[in-house]
Amino acid sequence: MVDELKQFAYDLLWTWQPRIEALFRALDPELWKSTRENPVLLLSQLGEDGVKRACERDEVRQAFEGARAVYHDYYDRHPRFMDAQAPMAIAYFSLEFGLSECLPIYSGGLGVLAGDHLKATSDLGLPLVAVGLLYKQGFGRQDIDAGGRQFEVYSENRGADLPVRKVEGVEVEAPMGTRNVRIAVWRVQVGRVSLFLLDTDLEANPQDLRNITDRLYVPEPDRRLRQEIVLGIGGVRALRALGIDSGVFHLNEGHSFLCAIERIRELRASRQMTLEEARLVARAGIVFTTHTPIAAGSDYFDSGLVWDLLGPYLSQVGISFDRFMDLGRQRPGDPRERLCTTYAALRLADQSVGVSRLHGAVSRRLWKDAWRGLPETQVPIGSVTNGVHMPTWVAPEIAELLGRFVGPDWWDLDPTDGRWHAVHEIPAADLWAVHGELKRRLFVLSDERAETPRELDLNALTIGFGRRFAPYKRANLLLRDRARLTKLLRNAKRPVQILFAGKAHPADQPGKDIVAGIVALAREEPRVVFMKDYDITLARHLVQGADVWLNNPRRFLEASGTSGMKAGANGGLNVSVLDGWWDEAYRPELGWAIPSGATLDRQEVDDVAEAEGLFRLLEREVVPLFYDRDEAGIPRRWVEMMKASMRNVVTQFAARRMVIDYFNTAYAPGARRVEQLRLLPDWGG
Ligand SMILES: *Cc1c(COP(=O)(O)O)cnc(C)c1O
Repeated sequence: MVDELKQFAYDLLWTWQPRIEALFRALDPELWKSTRENPVLLLSQLGEDGVKRACERDEVRQAFEGARAVYHDYYDRHPRFMDAQAPMAIAYFSLEFGLSECLPIYSGGLGVLAGDHLKATSDLGLPLVAVGLLYKQGFGRQDIDAGGRQFEVYSENRGADLPVRKVEGVEVEAPMGTRNVRIAVWRVQVGRVSLFLLDTDLEANPQDLRNITDRLYVPEPDRRLRQEIVLGIGGVRALRALGIDSGVFHLNEGHSFLCAIERIRELRASRQMTLEEARLVARAGIVFTTHTPIAAGSDYFDSGLVWDLLGPYLSQVGISFDRFMDLGRQRPGDPRERLCTTYAALRLADQSVGVSRLHGAVSRRLWKDAWRGLPETQVPIGSVTNGVHMPTWVAPEIAELLGRFVGPDWWDLDPTDGRWHAVHEIPAADLWAVHGELKRRLFVLSDERAETPRELDLNALTIGFGRRFAPYKRANLLLRDRARLTKLLRNAKRPVQILFAGKAHPADQPGKDIVAGIVALAREEPRVVFMKDYDITLARHLVQGADVWLNNPRRFLEASGTSGMKAGANGGLNVSVLDGWWDEAYRPELGWAIPSGATLDRQEVDDVAEAEGLFRLLEREVVPLFYDRDEAGIPRRWVEMMKASMRNVVTQFAARRMVIDYFNTAYAPGARRVEQLRLLPDWGG
């Protein structure tokens, strides 16, 4: 039993199989909480004797049988892509992965998306491995001081406390100027998928190289480039040392663009290819996803820095320094221009995509100069719209309803599957009761996380707003008209309450000002709550318990916005600007579109117009519909919208659909091209 428990603890499958999670909770509910839901830490703190004693209790034994059943079901199931034509492993590179609170190697949306990608890949049985970094310190936890300002608290990740295991006997090196940095490799098991994490904190390294993997998103370009060298170059070398012969590489954001350069080097070294040949073969297998809708969102590196850290390596690759720098320049040949990782990745990849249809169009405009002379409409940047991993984000109680009415494999059905009609047969009273329970659970968590006094009412319309507090997301849009907001909140018959959560980037002072503004509001209005330390646990409670999910960014700046998908899949109704995913998902039966002023160059005008539009929607449509009840107190029309939202979002905005799209449009064609090119006899043979 103890060995099996360890096996469950080191497999992140538990993060999307509630019955395995239930086993850990049953072992010791208090400890489960105090370890912040970390099964590895839980087992080590209980000790072998403690575990054995706990396992004598009936409810633990029952939970154990339940966990064991789903564990074996999962691995006995024959997933759809297990036998698919995937001639070689696909390697997925990302600087962050948001898989679970107990593995704090992520900061926000990009990382959670990468985590969801791996989980869905495991469900589908695709041959994919992933590469990232093991940070010694996680992203800072958020706390709030007496003046309402955010500050960050950093804690240390210790390998022994995390669901990671060192890969013994594997160490690789990556170039750092004239030196080499040694890299150890850890493995995380995400169901069927292995995630390899690179770590430079080794005694063999001098101090300034040991701390490369200290923390996520260091601001200094020098430290950032070092991390990107470890990820891109070290990552490919680690895969080879592990015996993984991947030819298709998926770069999640430009941070890992150096993986394409290392690929060129290895092809030249092992197959005696010319630079041009190697570039073509490497390129055939490079898939690049750009996430940022603004040019400033990329990394930029001065030529001096690039020379210092990569000069000797580039001569090994056999690419001239100027040519390398030009890969990342808007205007190749301009020596003053820095290297932009997005331009470099676009020029090295065969397939480049944005993360929603609208963001694809925004990206074509933004990066068109990578293809000088091509009209914007022909710029070869497509889109694969993001999706979220439904078994992770859909509440078990909602999953149970969907399982009963739509089918036990509701999360694994195609959008066109006729069984989805049955979602409309779920009795309104049942769905409303389940939603009420999820809302109650959210309020319980808000007891722990609320920064301010609260006066929450289970029957009041509850708006959730949870995301990074970057200024463009305008968490404070509703504060533009305090009188009108107060009227909504304090309405005696039809009150509205708002739950806010989100962190500003540690260096983002305007973002921190917005946090302070919301905290100040919450200190005055008991129906406004600021919940601190937005993380995966809080995000899950918020998207599952809110009646309405509010998203009001400046249009064109939200590339995707996955939290709205999480809410929509749980029956939360979106009220959102037509940006990112909502631009393609919105239909009146699913939620509301905030009219966009979108002059774009006059933000002050847009903010006023969009705040006005938002208030109008809330006052005239959202609040009245929510309080329109039948004799049993159920808002029938609202519940119908909940069902439509669940159906549409679960089928179309699932990570499952996203991974299948990547497979069909990029991974499989890429693998075929690489294979064909490899077989050409003249090319190194
Ligand atoms: C889903 C998620 C995000 C991304 O949300 P957006 O809507 O893209 O802002 C960020 N952080 C956490 C913890 C999440 O779960």
